[in-house]
Amino acid sequence: MAEKRWISETLFDDLGFRISYAAERVLYEMQTEHQHLVLFENKHFGKMLMLDGATQVTTKDEFIYHEMMTHVPILAHGRAKEVLIIGGGDCGIAEEALKHKAVERLTQVEIDASVVEFSKEHFPEFTRPVLRNKRFELVIEDGMKYVAETERRFDVIIVDSTDPQGPGAVLFTREFYAACKRCMKPGGVMVTQNGVPFLQPDELISSVRHFRKLFADAGCYVASIPTYVGGQMAMGWATDNPRLRQVSEKTLSDRYEKAGRFSTKYWTAAVHRAAFALPRFIAEHVAKASGRSARRARTA
Ligand code: SAM
Repeated sequence: MAEKRWISETLFDDLGFRISYAAERVLYEMQTEHQHLVLFENKHFGKMLMLDGATQVTTKDEFIYHEMMTHVPILAHGRAKEVLIIGGGDCGIAEEALKHKAVERLTQVEIDASVVEFSKEHFPEFTRPVLRNKRFELVIEDGMKYVAETERRFDVIIVDSTDPQGPGAVLFTREFYAACKRCMKPGGVMVTQNGVPFLQPDELISSVRHFRKLFADAGCYVASIPTYVGGQMAMGWATDNPRLRQVSEKTLSDRYEKAGRFSTKYWTAAVHRAAFALPRFIAEHVAKASGRSARRARTA
């Protein structure tokens, strides 16, 4: 019997370690116009997508990241009608966002058509409900160009990007965040995939440093996703409405009820609130990025 292939995440090579997964089957592998893409089946995590050696999504733990990147900003905002996703290739975020019936228009701007194309075949649980939904619009374009040029204005912007390498690097720049602010409605909120602070502190510090120059309220919330190794992942938070992070558990529950109590496996109103309670080392990164002394780090 042929030796099983072990596929390694090379994202942390410079930190001196790799995580490897046994591939029961390699379903798809190609060098796209923008990045190296491999999809394989793993006994425990199911289908796993890696782009340029970084795990993007697995069928086993996708719900944690997709729910927290979507329901937190939309329910905190409370009246979101126009939502923009930058990146989001596999459509997992879009599938969660369309559960909110009050969202009238959802636009996804993805640079790499191949990721969406192959997701139609390999992640139909995401793409099927999304691509046939009349409220959904797919734009194949660089997210930086889109937010710099669009006339549209959005209540919520979700940056579901790769890491700051290759095509994703521009999505962590001040120019990109300033262009996102330009196309946000007053009181809008932006959330960003911001890495795992225990291993990638600079990614969070750099983004929050940009946010605080552009928005009244800048910080992050956290959740642990097993295949985003290294502990809690930080989801960047940027808005001019500081009250959005203070929305009470009661109000969040009422909004969830009003939104039709759609199915979730991770998000609850209590988990939402708790996600903003940061461990001190992450709070200190945010304080540092906000020019505040670590002693004055806000942990909630
Ligand atoms: N959740 C994953 C993570 O945390 O790493 C990200 C998932 S999603 C697959 C990331 C998507 O961002 C990819 O499909 C990639 O093609 C897209 N992307 C990267 N750079 C982009 C850019 N400049 N504009 C638009 N999409 C981009």
